Amino acid sequence: MIRAEKGKPSSGSRIIDWLKWGEERLSCLPEASARESRDLLGEILEDPLAPWTRDREVLPDELSACYASWVERRRQREPFHLITGSVPFLEERFAVAPGTLIPRPETESLVENVLRILDSRSPERILDLGCGSGILGISLLKKFPKAHCLAVDRSVVPLEVSRKNALALGVLSRIHFVQGDWIEMLRLDQGFDLIVSNPPYIASGDLSGLDPEILFYEPREALDGGPDGLVFYRRLMAVLPGLLSTGGVAAVEIGSCQGDFFRSDAGFVSGCGAPLVFPDILGLDRIVLWKKG
Ligand code: GLN
Repeated sequence: MIRAEKGKPSSGSRIIDWLKWGEERLSCLPEASARESRDLLGEILEDPLAPWTRDREVLPDELSACYASWVERRRQREPFHLITGSVPFLEERFAVAPGTLIPRPETESLVENVLRILDSRSPERILDLGCGSGILGISLLKKFPKAHCLAVDRSVVPLEVSRKNALALGVLSRIHFVQGDWIEMLRLDQGFDLIVSNPPYIASGDLSGLDPEILFYEPREALDGGPDGLVFYRRLMAVLPGLLSTGGVAAVEIGSCQGDFFRSDAGFVSGCGAPLVFPDILGLDRIVLWKKG
């Protein structure tokens, strides 16, 4: 005889009963577990308010089975957005998959700062280095309808996910994907008007201290920035003058403790000068921006 799991609602139970169960199952997670049990249900019902406004309704069996499996996956520390398969970023929703970094809200401030610096100028040629799920390049193509983007990543999965997102968001004809080692593969006379990147920037020695959601589920190659976390930036800065067109802008995301490196002489790039450092929504150093000429 199959025994019902203790406390698990039976077939025909109401949303409110499933929520109570989900909250209990996720209570072992740090913080915000109650909210995530609700958000998972909102995703399943494709209605974020349903956990509040429809909680007396019965949850159909096929949806409750899905909810139960999502709650158990979250309990195993799988990230929320890998379970649901997508993430909102600025005005759009992007697919994510195992093998891509999950977009973070603070990365939105990269696009916002780029738009502010460019003012009303429109870049024609954009380079997205380490494109991941494509959030930066694709968001910028949506903002600049005449622009084209070269999106580069070392790994195949991010390029496949980016392609899917570019298709879904209507910019596939304006984005070109290249698999390779970011900077080395690029000729130095490309004349890009805008270069964007959210590179790996966590010091290798700090990786083991990351939350399990990141450590076990997100790609190490998108996180590991070498011994001091700054390896990618040094490589980029060395080739930046050759990659940018005159008046071109490069904007990168950084770790919140890395701002002073860029404010020091180390941030100076010949032909581009000293960079600007901008905060994210929490007021932490997050975006570094150079302008050529
Ligand atoms: N912001 C990410 C984190 O804190 C790191 C992303 C990156 O290395 N580019 O986990």
